[in-house]
Amino acid sequence: MIKKDSIKRRNTYQRQLILEILKSTTAHPTADWIYEQARKEIPNISLGTVYRNLKILKEEGLIIELTDGKQSRFDARIDNHYHFKCEKCGSIYDIEPEDIEINHSLEFKGFSIDTVDVNITGVCSKCNGENA
Ligand code: ZN
Ligand code: MN
Repeated sequence: MIKKDSIKRRNTYQRQLILEILKSTTAHPTADWIYEQARKEIPNISLGTVYRNLKILKEEGLIIELTDGKQSRFDARIDNHYHFKCEKCGSIYDIEPEDIEINHSLEFKGFSIDTVDVNITGVCSKCNGENA
């Protein structure tokens, strides 16, 4: 019983740590990056544990997984927003909904929209040499 409790506590701690790491960045990191950060706190944590906890956090609706079919990136920002991926440096930026005009004319044609999935790619301001 005591052992079961301590395992539960450990799992909760690991999951909480992974969530905190993800909340501390806006860089939309990979599981590998999160793993490297988590190891600073828990040196013996495994990459598999990180993956498992990311999956649970996603199922709980606490994080979002962004995937381009090749690589998954993760985001602890769960309110409605979009992403811009730079084709030069691979950075992913948050885009506010008000910066994109979604055409709702479909709704007037009788279609009901459940989700809007917008894929924005291009070159970011840093790569364009316009970094402030
Ligand atoms: Zn860039
Ligand atoms: Mn985001």
